[in-house]
Amino acid sequence: MKKVAAADVVILGGGIAGLWVLNRLRQSGISAILFESVALGGGQTHKSQGIIHGGMKYALQGAMTKEAQAMADMPSRWKQCLSGKGEVDLSHVPVLSSQHYLWAPHKFTAKLTGLLASTTLTSKVELVPKESYPVVFQHPGFKGEVYSLDEMVIDVPVLIREMVKANQDAVFKIEPLCHEALKLDEQGKLVSVTVSMSGKSVEVTAQQFVFTAGAGNEVIIKKLKNKELNMQRRPLHMVLVKTSFHYPLYAHCLGLGSRPRLTVTTHHAQDGSTIWYLGGLLAEDGVGRDSQAQIEAARKELNALFPWLDFSAAQFATFTVDRAEPLQKSGFKPESSYTKVIQNMIIAWPTKLALAPKLAEDILSHLQQAISPQCSDVQELRSWPMPPLAEPIWEDAFCKND
Ligand SMILES: Cc1cc2nc3c(=O)[nH]c(=O)nc-3n(C[C@H](O)[C@H](O)[C@H](O)COP(=O)(O)OP(=O)(O)OC[C@H]3O[C@@H](n4cnc5c(N)ncnc54)[C@H](O)[C@@H]3O)c2cc1C
Repeated sequence: MKKVAAADVVILGGGIAGLWVLNRLRQSGISAILFESVALGGGQTHKSQGIIHGGMKYALQGAMTKEAQAMADMPSRWKQCLSGKGEVDLSHVPVLSSQHYLWAPHKFTAKLTGLLASTTLTSKVELVPKESYPVVFQHPGFKGEVYSLDEMVIDVPVLIREMVKANQDAVFKIEPLCHEALKLDEQGKLVSVTVSMSGKSVEVTAQQFVFTAGAGNEVIIKKLKNKELNMQRRPLHMVLVKTSFHYPLYAHCLGLGSRPRLTVTTHHAQDGSTIWYLGGLLAEDGVGRDSQAQIEAARKELNALFPWLDFSAAQFATFTVDRAEPLQKSGFKPESSYTKVIQNMIIAWPTKLALAPKLAEDILSHLQQAISPQCSDVQELRSWPMPPLAEPIWEDAFCKND
């Protein structure tokens, strides 16, 4: 006989989006279960730099854009959660830095000067006195200026662990779904998802299905063939540097254009070493380079920006990753998080880790109208394994690059 299970809501994909939605739904008394095909947080989430943007990076274009506005509330919302008083308890998640810095190697561009004069943003950007510069800039070789932004950086691997903690009975590992596993009725409503693991299969029904599978949302896009639903991938070639020094740095380096020339965050590996994690234009422009060429480009950039530091003994690793988002005509980043409701399905991308609370709020308010809580039955899934937690990307990348 076919094995069956049922829940009010089934979530597919256990990155930050799926985990945040799972937490909010279960707190609201809605029975929700989540299926993950690889590792919890193991998609884009564990590769993120953990910056809780307040929109400043996007405001570097010189005006308060829609993107900047959508993100402006996010730092305070995350702060509430980190203090244990928010919608999700993140009181055990370390804040790696309470602010992110902006620096330019020489002097600030006219664009930034204009921006700093804007009344909307002045409260969020402050010129840092020399004595309070991050240690790495307290060197006579540094000739630029440093500003601080009200944007914190959080420890993403611990974030994932904490988001899972209260939900271990509702999170199940599955094998990657193929679109035959999704059963639609004649109206195009999703009737069930048949999940498989280690030779066992269970057909899972739900009132509503939420797809938060990042790039894996492609499975439902292909199934539905809906003209209004499509995905874009924007690749990055990120760089990790195991340094021989211990300077923590969380900062965007300003270049001539509107996007940061380099974004640096700092993390600590299990072997005690300090890792500088590099994004920004280096990662965007580096997409066409192979790993060796990207490492050379990173070395050149670091030597140019930090001529007083010695990177000759540093170890480098690189990896490529796609940012998965709803398709934009421009091909650029979407302005905010995205949800598309089709029948009893929600297809969602947060587009930024920082926007996960907004995404979950949008999904929750739709689901509260769309479902009436019923009995769930997950007996057949009880013996299924929980997905592993994703390893920090620096542990993974240095193993693979060794
Ligand atoms: C290099 C990089 C740095 C970034 N830095 C930042 C930052 O500093 N701040 C910020 O706000 N944002 C940042 N972002 C963006 C942010 O990481 C993403 O927007 C966010 O993590 C996306 O979360 P998600 O849950 O939608 O997707 P993902 O994290 O990709 O999670 C999707 C999950 O679904 C699983 N899955 C896939 N297919 C299936 C399936 N068929 N069934 C079940 N599970 C499936 C995957 O294994 C994965 O675990 C960064 C992104 C990248 C790539």
